[in-house]
Amino acid sequence: MTTGTKATTERRVNLYGMGLEELTAFVQELGEPAYRARQLMEWLYQHHVTDFHAMTNLPKALRHTLAERATAEAPTVAHVQVSTDGTRKYLLRVFDGDTVEAVLIPEGERLTACLSSQIGCGIGCRFCATALMGLTRNLAPGEIVGQLAAIQQESGRRVTNVVMMGMGEPLANYTSVMRALRLMNHPLGFGLGARRLTISTVGIVPRIRDLARENLQVGLAVSLHAADDETRDLLVPINRRYPIAELMAAVRDYIEQTHRRVTFEYVLLRGVNDSPADARKLAKLLEGLLCHVNLIPFNPVPETGFERPEAAVIKRFQEELTSRGIPATVRRSRGSDIDAACGQLRRRQPV
Ligand code: SAH
Repeated sequence: MTTGTKATTERRVNLYGMGLEELTAFVQELGEPAYRARQLMEWLYQHHVTDFHAMTNLPKALRHTLAERATAEAPTVAHVQVSTDGTRKYLLRVFDGDTVEAVLIPEGERLTACLSSQIGCGIGCRFCATALMGLTRNLAPGEIVGQLAAIQQESGRRVTNVVMMGMGEPLANYTSVMRALRLMNHPLGFGLGARRLTISTVGIVPRIRDLARENLQVGLAVSLHAADDETRDLLVPINRRYPIAELMAAVRDYIEQTHRRVTFEYVLLRGVNDSPADARKLAKLLEGLLCHVNLIPFNPVPETGFERPEAAVIKRFQEELTSRGIPATVRRSRGSDIDAACGQLRRRQPV
């Protein structure tokens, strides 16, 4: 019977990361009523209980069957670093033993979790630390929502906002990211309002169009970084495939369909894209659009060779935009002392 037991173990399915539909199908296959799936949702995502034997409102026999047939494996915290500004950077172990980073950013009442969508990234933006890793693989839905769960467990606090701005390109892992976001949004899941969830993308045009058709009101942030193709080609190589005009057309359609204000991220690199003329070009490109610009002064990644502009240059750039009616804010760098700021995630912490 040893081989039989082994085969059963191998067939055990990981329920963590499944949504209501998948869990319902699973419990019905076991001959259980559909409401068991709702109970499982609550245990897994609201109470962060992954031991079936501790799920006290399920019949004992069912708990036993679940333990035999399934697992509920969520990512675990391997290491935490705390910044002087209260930002916490997490190294999390995912299903195959590999690791990803996620960041928790407290800002008054707001507690934002910055989550990863992939292990590494394959896009290759010239100024980003994650790009130096290359792409290992996509994360599964459970590995994405599990980052949120692990962070809440470790910090003992409830996250109020989620931004998919950690490692990876969320729209290059579209299906899993959407499943994860729906679980975060679901009332039996993490119960976060869709408006508190944001996807940041380098600009994968067909997926922006797909996102516009989802009936989930998540926020969209687009990493623009330059207002002309010549500069953007150099900084964000995928611009050769999806140049600015195509990207802007997709964003315009997105706004028309969702009526949501889109954020444009713009990393400020000294002498590259930070001149008043660059700002005016950007203002012209965004004219009349329901949008907001988030300027991100470059966070140091020494290998890239880029530098951050002087404070006065950053201020001038912002003023060129706002004086032309384009709302623009400067993103405060959070957690840069522990390499947790935008573009600095690359798993350098000790394990
Ligand atoms: N791949 C997605 C999600 C990453 S979000 C995207 O490109 O939008 C992280 C944000 O930080 C992006 O806007 C990214 O371009 C920016 N970023 C990358 N490296 C940076 C750095 N060194 N300093 C400041 N911002 C950086």
